[in-house]
Amino acid sequence: MFYYNQYVRAQSLDEAYELYQKKTNFVLGGMLWLKMKNKTLGTAIDLCDLGLEAIEEDENEFRIGAYVSLRQIETHESLNAYTDGAIAEAVRHIVGVQFRNVATVGGSIWGRFGFSDVMTVFRALGAKVRLHHAGIMDLDEFARLPRTTRDILVEVIVPKNVQSVVYLSQRNQSTDFPVLTCAVAKRDGRYVAVIGASPYMAQPVWDEQGILDAADGQELSDEQIEKFADQVSEHIRFGTNMRAGAEYRKIICKVLVKRAVKQAVGKGIA
Ligand SMILES: Cc1cc2nc3c(=O)[nH]c(=O)nc-3n(C[C@H](O)[C@H](O)[C@H](O)COP(=O)(O)OP(=O)(O)OC[C@H]3O[C@@H](n4cnc5c(N)ncnc54)[C@H](O)[C@@H]3O)c2cc1C
Repeated sequence: MFYYNQYVRAQSLDEAYELYQKKTNFVLGGMLWLKMKNKTLGTAIDLCDLGLEAIEEDENEFRIGAYVSLRQIETHESLNAYTDGAIAEAVRHIVGVQFRNVATVGGSIWGRFGFSDVMTVFRALGAKVRLHHAGIMDLDEFARLPRTTRDILVEVIVPKNVQSVVYLSQRNQSTDFPVLTCAVAKRDGRYVAVIGASPYMAQPVWDEQGILDAADGQELSDEQIEKFADQVSEHIRFGTNMRAGAEYRKIICKVLVKRAVKQAVGKGIA
């Protein structure tokens, strides 16, 4: 069972940050992952009075508050128009609608779970996080922060610099944790494939050699797509757990990358 001794509704980010500096205190998200722990903690810090449950948009970016639910990003028209439905596709397999009404974007990113569909799609989109103390950093940098970091995730920022993005995952059974997650995006003219649930945390592999560069007016060939999929699967570290073996994951990786690139080429969003 999971217990805590005190509950505080923080009235400012400063107050939440100060409280969180004590080792036994913790920040509440939707509490869906937290509640599975078997321990007793100190003070639960609730951010619900801090206005973090909105999605804002201007011409340059989307700003998604830490308390926005997975269901909100799944059904947000503009976010899904921009990502051609990739965000909805990334979260729609996660347990069920009632669960997604409660699970937060902040908790999903902060957890840096290896299996995370959410981390995979946001990394492909080149998202950044705003931490109250450390400020804005991209997800690549955030992913490298020590697990002992005690900061408040305020919002996730999605810059509008993506020309196309496709999200695919493989599951043994719908609503189960994924066997592999894959998002391919074209950002600032270059392709990146992000592979998660390998079973390690999502990792980007950029097309640094321009394998997917097409001559003007020419379509990408199957050979180019195959070569990129090979490159991605060679760069990712695969492991074995109860859901799948490393070798199987590597095979699935190639298949998903090929499918995702083909879809991305077929339906540019910018
Ligand atoms: C049964 C089950 C199945 C799942 N399946 C999937 C799946 O298939 N794919 C997938 O992507 N995810 C899956 N998840 C993860 C889920 O989608 C959420 O990511 C997870 O529950 C965390 O979100 P939460 O809002 O419940 O956070 P919580 O459980 O409340 O918090 C998680 C962690 O983040 C910290 N935290 C929360 N908010 C903040 C903040 N603003 N600032 C700093 N720290 C913060 C908490 O202190 C805690 O350490 C699953 C979870 C469960 C329980």
